[in-house]
Amino acid sequence: MNFNKCVRCGSFFASSDNICPNCQHKDKVDMISIRNYLANNELPQNIEMLSSQSGVSVKNINRYLKTKEFSDIKESFFNANPSNIGTSL
Ligand SMILES: [Zn+2]
Repeated sequence: MNFNKCVRCGSFFASSDNICPNCQHKDKVDMISIRNYLANNELPQNIEMLSSQSGVSVKNINRYLKTKEFSDIKESFFNANPSNIGTSL
């Protein structure tokens, strides 16, 4: 069995995921917060603004933007301002 370090809380857990089971739930809640925010508001100018408006950390938003579920949001940010999406993605 593999032990991985959770990228969100830093705890070790037995799985091949990057995220521990506790944080998977928190990620889901965060993703819903971001979706809800964007459903009711214009796309913020940058990820920092989305973070302060939605209460989700920039680090976590950047992580979500790498997922397939958030590829449309990533594209919106990129179309709004290509410098929003750094080379880290
Ligand atoms: Zn965790």
